[in-house]
Amino acid sequence: MDWIELDGSRGEGGGQILRTALSLSMITGIPFVIERIRAGRRKPGLLRQHLTAVQAAAAVCGAEVDGATTGSQGLCFKPGPVRGGDYRHAIGSAGSCTLVLQTVLPALWFADGPSTLRISGGTHNPAAPPADFLIRSWQPLIRRMGVTLDIRLLRHGFYPAGGGEMLASTAPVASWRSLHLNTRGDLRRQGAIGVVAGVPAEVARREMQRAASQLGVLDEELRVLPSNEGPGNVLLVVLDYPEVTEVFSVRGERGVPAERVADSAARAARLFRDSGAPIGEYLSDQLLLPMALSGQGSFTTQVLSSHLRTNCQVIEAFLPVRFAFEETDTRVRVSVAQENG
Ligand code: ATP
Repeated sequence: MDWIELDGSRGEGGGQILRTALSLSMITGIPFVIERIRAGRRKPGLLRQHLTAVQAAAAVCGAEVDGATTGSQGLCFKPGPVRGGDYRHAIGSAGSCTLVLQTVLPALWFADGPSTLRISGGTHNPAAPPADFLIRSWQPLIRRMGVTLDIRLLRHGFYPAGGGEMLASTAPVASWRSLHLNTRGDLRRQGAIGVVAGVPAEVARREMQRAASQLGVLDEELRVLPSNEGPGNVLLVVLDYPEVTEVFSVRGERGVPAERVADSAARAARLFRDSGAPIGEYLSDQLLLPMALSGQGSFTTQVLSSHLRTNCQVIEAFLPVRFAFEETDTRVRVSVAQENG
């Protein structure tokens, strides 16, 4: 079989090119070689999170891999058949558990039996989907496409210590359903979750109060974790619509006032609320792969991000699908269909 050649410096030059390629290589059986991995990032090459994604992918399909070392900027990946089973991986740093899960889960939807996947590392990282986002925003939409999926947050893990753990149970998909998310319905509920570990609860209370002053009434949930799970603080703003739930998160940092953390989460939530689009920027690039696997689908989002475009190109390199974009001043409608459909 011909190898697919990928350039990891494409678009934003981030890790998503590698993660999408791993998922689709396992599913299609097509081997790939990638050069200039994460060339657009300050520390290019494979970090612990990417390396764990490669190792976890190799474990579920018995792949032959060359170049899987920390810092490596080139990788060859030749997959074998995907096997269901119980898998467990430790990132060994605060690297994102959710990004590793999102890499391997799609392959397990094509396995020969059910699977569990347990990953330890960071669960609430700055530039990755927090565990709550995966569970509240991503998972319900994936289930609507016909996937059996149950994702649990077993223990929180924050940068830089990590130590969090997530567990996902899934099974081969019997029959895919296409999803069209072009309206969202009226706002049903606004919530704020203030999470603290080894940080005074007052910080989370201030964040939630400030977010409420910016966004209107919020159902507040204070999550005070054992201090040995920290130090860590994150504010999550949850907007619930009939068709979709969006989660906006900002990490609290030493020296940054709680009010500034809240303002930043509230700004993102308000922009989304005002846009009328059902799908936010982050969720949009995370829906592309499952939607392409389901054969067809569409959604309307706020912006055509670089991540979104790059991810579409990688998916088109592996699957016989084509993406189309219809842009207006305020929104973008993204659709995917079979190439000859
Ligand atoms: P690298 O892995 O090299 O850091 P990348 O380009 O994949 O590179 P990011 O741009 O940070 O990394 O994004 C990774 C993924 O995390 C994307 O799918 C993006 O949608 C998602 N993501 C980033 N921030 C958030 C957030 N606050 N909420 C939800 N998802 C997020």
